[in-house]
Amino acid sequence: MTDTTSPTLTGAFSDAELRDIRADFAILGTVVNGAPLVYLDSGATSQKPRQVLDAERYFYEHDNAAVHRGAHTLAALATESFEDARAVVARFVGAADDEIVWTSNATEGINLVAYAISNASLGRGGDDALRIGPGDEIVVTEMEHHANLIPWQELAARTGATLRFIPILDDGSLDLDRLDSIVTERTRVLAFTHVSNVLGIVNPVDVLVARARAVGAVTVLDACQSAPHLTLDLKALGVDFAVFSGHKMLGPTGIGVLYGRSELLNALPPFLTGGSMITTVTMESAQYLPAPQRFEAGTQRVSQTVGLAAAVRYLETVGMHRIAEHEAALGERLVAGLAALPGVTVLGQAAGLHRVGLASFDLAGVHSHDVGQFLDDRGIAVRVGHHCAQPLHRRFGVTSTTRASAYLYSTADEIDQVVDGVRDAATFFGVTR
Ligand code: PLP
Repeated sequence: MTDTTSPTLTGAFSDAELRDIRADFAILGTVVNGAPLVYLDSGATSQKPRQVLDAERYFYEHDNAAVHRGAHTLAALATESFEDARAVVARFVGAADDEIVWTSNATEGINLVAYAISNASLGRGGDDALRIGPGDEIVVTEMEHHANLIPWQELAARTGATLRFIPILDDGSLDLDRLDSIVTERTRVLAFTHVSNVLGIVNPVDVLVARARAVGAVTVLDACQSAPHLTLDLKALGVDFAVFSGHKMLGPTGIGVLYGRSELLNALPPFLTGGSMITTVTMESAQYLPAPQRFEAGTQRVSQTVGLAAAVRYLETVGMHRIAEHEAALGERLVAGLAALPGVTVLGQAAGLHRVGLASFDLAGVHSHDVGQFLDDRGIAVRVGHHCAQPLHRRFGVTSTTRASAYLYSTADEIDQVVDGVRDAATFFGVTR
């Protein structure tokens, strides 16, 4: 039976389990400004368990070599680790191995797709179906991270296509009443986030994919804030492309994932060109390998893929459904606690919408940097600023917010500490309304 008196529990993990999870993350034992660290900035980057650090260290101590080159034993071991990691990540998101392209992060994955489409549009190879130009439209949402906005602005500028966006309502949800008038026969690409990095709201992927399919548009899913927190089955979701970053899901920095449906990846010309992605090269031209190698030019990051595979195994061992349950409970506690405070406005409080353990808020008349500093004095780490989503903040009439974001290692007690901290900040800065 669940012990509801425990300050750490949300119902998904027992006290002992949560203690064991936290023990794997050495950094959580750190003291910051004289107080035990309360790390509520996992939306920016997650902490890493020793299993991930050990896997990277093991790789460098035993298997390190360049992959897909060389006939020696270490090269074979490294290549095996690299491709095993791809298979682990593919299984985690319901994809085939050759549908997983390694990138340095999600930002690079989105740029890769946008540049490959623009190369196709310039007649630099690929399938005609993926060309776009004047009269065509690219659609994003008003809640995108800049990583899923600026590459599309640039693609529109390069090709003469028009960029449009699906607005959001006051409660933070997408204005789906306008979906059919915005995503039309002219739409060639619909790029949207699965979970907002500011609102924590989970978007209705099924509705968006169904509309895109009805008009023949390609879908690009930003799964940065969903892959770490929810069970993700990309085939079931039916998206054409998806991206996420290893560092937000217990993995190392420097490794990201681009998923693409096999036929689409192979219908795109490359983005970066060079070694390791070709079949034949003459002084005049080159023939390219099929995906994923055609998108993996140059010497590859290998230890990072090994670390990411260890992170995925860690998440799978704990169980994604339990992680999601734990974080949903933390998210509800966070939003309820913050919303009850004087002068606090939580952005996007759509009632009944599924959300992850993340909330951004404005404290009336107090700059988010001051709130962040006040909390940091107590060892509480949160993110302040516009969280790379300026248009979304503008939509809510603010320039910056404070964001608290939890993960599997976060406790209900830590959520209460940040709520108490914001209450004290409100008092300290004289906020009364
Ligand atoms: N998309 C979303 C929703 C994000 O939260 C982030 C990171 O904050 C990104 C994209 C970009 O991720 P990265 O900086 O790892 O490429």
